[in-house]
Amino acid sequence: MNKFEALGLDNAIVRAVTELGFESPTPIQEKTIPALLNADTDLVALAQTGTGKTAGFGLPLISKIDFTSRDTQALIMCPTRELCMQITRDLQNYTKYINGAHIVAIYGGASIDNQTRDIKRGAQIVVATPGRMVDMIDRRRVNLSSVKVAVLDEADEMLNMGFKEDLDTILSQTPEEKNTWLFSATMPDEVLRISKNYMENPVEITAGVKNQGNDNIEHIYYVVQARDKYAALKRIADSNPDIFAIVFCRTRIETQEIAESLIKDGYGADSLHGDLSQAQRDQVMKRYRSRSLQMLVATDVAARGIDVNDVTHVINYNLPDEIENYTHRSGRTARAGKKGVSICIINMKEVGKIRIIERIIKKKFIQGTIPTGFEACEKQLFSLVSKIHNVEVNEAAIEAYMPKIYDELKDLSKEDIIKRFVSTEFNRFLDYYKNAPDLNASVGRERSSQPGITKLFINLGEMDSLDRNSLREYISEVSGVDLNSITNVEVKGSFSFVEVKSEVAEIITGTFKNQRYNNRSVRIESRGNKETGEGRTRDRGRGSYGGGERRSFGGNRGGYGGGDRRGSYGEKKSYGNSDRADRGERRDREYGDKKKSYSGEKSFSKGSASGGGDRKSNFSREKRPRKQF
Ligand code: AMP
Repeated sequence: MNKFEALGLDNAIVRAVTELGFESPTPIQEKTIPALLNADTDLVALAQTGTGKTAGFGLPLISKIDFTSRDTQALIMCPTRELCMQITRDLQNYTKYINGAHIVAIYGGASIDNQTRDIKRGAQIVVATPGRMVDMIDRRRVNLSSVKVAVLDEADEMLNMGFKEDLDTILSQTPEEKNTWLFSATMPDEVLRISKNYMENPVEITAGVKNQGNDNIEHIYYVVQARDKYAALKRIADSNPDIFAIVFCRTRIETQEIAESLIKDGYGADSLHGDLSQAQRDQVMKRYRSRSLQMLVATDVAARGIDVNDVTHVINYNLPDEIENYTHRSGRTARAGKKGVSICIINMKEVGKIRIIERIIKKKFIQGTIPTGFEACEKQLFSLVSKIHNVEVNEAAIEAYMPKIYDELKDLSKEDIIKRFVSTEFNRFLDYYKNAPDLNASVGRERSSQPGITKLFINLGEMDSLDRNSLREYISEVSGVDLNSITNVEVKGSFSFVEVKSEVAEIITGTFKNQRYNNRSVRIESRGNKETGEGRTRDRGRGSYGGGERRSFGGNRGGYGGGDRRGSYGEKKSYGNSDRADRGERRDREYGDKKKSYSGEKSFSKGSASGGGDRKSNFSREKRPRKQF
């Protein structure tokens, strides 16, 4: 027996939800559906967004409606237009196989006459935002005297938004004997007051502990200098090539500025804030929902009720003024059992606020390290490889060109073709990131685990066929520093960390200033030394958020990553951009001739930067996630 059928739901509903891919009820549905089906009762449910609460109240609600009548029998109140439309859509889907079902959305910013007409046609269920509903009541355009059930969804949000009086007005228009079902992510006193005033012995359901964040959300904070926030945001985005994020800002102006800077830097981004008209909001949301945008930059108020699945990251560009809002923000990710990340980009003075949030959500944050430019490069590279692997080939369209393409590439081995193909994009990442500074503020992070020892970063690693010993020898040889002064070496894919006695740190960084390895500039710097990167000086003041690394491979201009063309390698126009294509070729040639400026031991040169077997095995070590878009 189907699990929804087992809960007592009708065939028509079970069929519709099965078609939507619902296999088994979510925990909240397991509780609400039988409780509401089997009795005419009031209900108070503490439930986060994304738990399946719409079906939790929607399915039993539909079961109680007489769809042969045209009377309005159910009223659902919710805080925002987005949520209103979402609930309406969901209920329309659930009633797909029920004849005569008519569900109408009532919200501000759209024609009140059209909405009145919709209601007059006979809407058994009305989903409304409070402001517009009061308007309809004032104009006597809605009759709520037959309402059997009133649902208050996201009650805490409605009160936060100042709808208390409107709710009182609306509920006073409904019959005393109706049932009220209240859903809220938190239970502040005001919500409890509503439950006391309007309910009698409500069934109480908790889907999650009070104020506790969703377990599927990982909370991470990054400490950066205030001036590096924007660069940090971009670095985070670049290190997560499949990012689909909501970036929260405090003010409308900041929202707009960040979105504009992101767009200028080539990301698929846009802003959502109170100054937009309804039509503009709808347009932005449409683009976001369809994944044309990678990042939606929003204020708290504008983002309320946004119901988009698969948001991978919530980024708190600024911490919310009200700490409670943190729960609402982070609840936009990890919906429907999926995993998500909630990130806070903070400055050193805000660490205390993180501790307060931890206490409220009863979860610990992880302190993250903003990835280095090279780490971001690596992520982008593997993402590119994964996209190449998964791209759908249009055999019919490409067939005619294949003989010429084969002919053009006939003198290249398979390995060479792969390297060159990947390099057309990857070289640009490398170029772009080659002088990217460390963005982590040094507070709370140890420069080294031991006193008298300094930790250095070097942009050479496994991909250069170096291991601990060979890298140590190389550094010693170039700098003339005794091997014993290099106390520890940690070799990563494209970079390494080297711990050295503090007194030789400057000698090493100094002697490496113009050093090249396999024709690549070697960069070695003290971890946490933020002013050494040339990129910072070069780029400062470019965008409104200055200090940024300009992302030349950006999306809207046909590059890699964000933008409207995101997600499909085949759609890009990078070949058409002669500037970038030229740069790519130049880099290819450099790699191709394998000239080495370092003339030391043979072992340093065995893996040229153009990549050999070693480098390939390094690439294949990391499994990229399947693309989501
Ligand atoms: P909600 O909390 O109602 O906003 O639901 C979050 C998401 O979960 C929506 O996209 C629903 O379509 C989806 N959903 C709700 N119930 C189920 C279920 N039983 N199985 C799978 N997905 C569900």
